[in-house]
Amino acid sequence: MNQYDYIIVGSGIAGLYTSLLAREQGSVLILTKGSIDECNTKYAQGGIAAAIGHGDSAELHYRDTLSAGAGLCDPEAVRILVEEAPDRITDLINFGVPFDTMDGEVALAREAAHSVPRILHAGGDATGEHIEVTLSRMARLAKITILEYFLATEIIVEDGVVRGVRAFDCRTGSVEEFRSRAVILATGGGGRLFKFTTNPDIATCDGIALAYDAGAEITDMEFLQFHPTALRLPGVIPFLISEAVRGEGGILRNAEGRQFMFDYSPEGDLASRDIVARSILYEMNKTGSDRVFLDVTHLPPRKTSARFPQIYRFCLDHSLDITKTLIPIAPAAHYMMGGVKTNAWGETNIAGLFAAGEAACTGVHGANRLASNSLLEVVVFAKRILQRTEEALKPSELACQRSDKDYFYFRE
Ligand SMILES: Cc1cc2nc3c(=O)[nH]c(=O)nc-3n(C[C@H](O)[C@H](O)[C@H](O)COP(=O)(O)OP(=O)(O)OC[C@H]3O[C@@H](n4cnc5c(N)ncnc54)[C@H](O)[C@@H]3O)c2cc1C
Repeated sequence: MNQYDYIIVGSGIAGLYTSLLAREQGSVLILTKGSIDECNTKYAQGGIAAAIGHGDSAELHYRDTLSAGAGLCDPEAVRILVEEAPDRITDLINFGVPFDTMDGEVALAREAAHSVPRILHAGGDATGEHIEVTLSRMARLAKITILEYFLATEIIVEDGVVRGVRAFDCRTGSVEEFRSRAVILATGGGGRLFKFTTNPDIATCDGIALAYDAGAEITDMEFLQFHPTALRLPGVIPFLISEAVRGEGGILRNAEGRQFMFDYSPEGDLASRDIVARSILYEMNKTGSDRVFLDVTHLPPRKTSARFPQIYRFCLDHSLDITKTLIPIAPAAHYMMGGVKTNAWGETNIAGLFAAGEAACTGVHGANRLASNSLLEVVVFAKRILQRTEEALKPSELACQRSDKDYFYFRE
């Protein structure tokens, strides 16, 4: 039986979190083109933003998000993001995500362009891995059907309504058809389109291409975020050095060893990502170097290795002790602000087709995503997709007029 209520394409945080909520409403199939945990989510370091700390508020988070987005955020979507954030964090905690604590309270870190510490993290800089492992374990326990190594190749649309997905079984070479009432694209971004990227191999923009082929609206594709600080060592992948490192006091220096960020912004090393990435490029051009440096040698070594265990270990494995030596870095493609256009309920312009996570464009990030707002956007808007489909399942007058319940209706 290849018939489900929901087909979810992708098994990062967007796919898994959505699947756990969808399971409450019907049968769920996850199709994912690699192993379940191969995705951008697993590599997220800094954490997830939410205004839950003393002295913080949804209003402050709202303003920081708009300001980072360079005037191009959708203010209504941002309002939803910041106001629903605390409840979605509670959901993640209830699912078992082990956020770090300090003195019995959730520990909050500061990242660039956030006016206060508001980033929850897990395992120091291993937030994504903890989220992925926790949610994939839950999905398996929830008896959701998960087909790994199945590459979605086509969204099936009949008479303007989504009916399912065609997928290529990478292990047998056969193509299979799966039918459903709703398809949720959770296929992530496309950093791999660029030579230097922090993204893993799976990030090839598939969902956006599939949606486009099916007739869905795509938007804001010109907004691609380059993370300012990816490791730049010959023969080594551009491993991400989290923004939280500068949040803890890391300083950017040019090839001549000079601190330069205050030449470009009053926020100095804590300016927003786009400003820092551009400033680094200017400095690289000025000094004729293909890199600048991040300096944490003035921070207590124990603090650095305990707060950033993954980064510390990765660099050490490549003969770089960051507590003693400057870290060579350069910008790298990191995050797609644009994607499949959705409204505030994750709905696309095609009946039955939804998009969540990095593949979607809800409008919250504008031209430049505020650090750690991505994981948050996933959970806030994924929840809204399921609130919407739950509504559609209710036998309301409107639903009877507009749907024989064979598919989900939406968009006025
Ligand atoms: C190194 C790094 C660090 C980051 N740090 C942070 C951070 O600290 N905070 C933050 O908020 N954000 C961070 N981000 C961004 C954030 O991790 C991602 O935006 C988020 O995890 C995206 O989740 P997703 O579920 O939408 O996509 P992904 O996690 O990328 O999952 C996509 C899934 O879709 C599958 N897939 C793709 N195409 C197909 C297809 N055709 N058929 C079947 N399956 C398919 C993939 O195999 C994968 O399972 C970071 C990103 C990176 C790369």
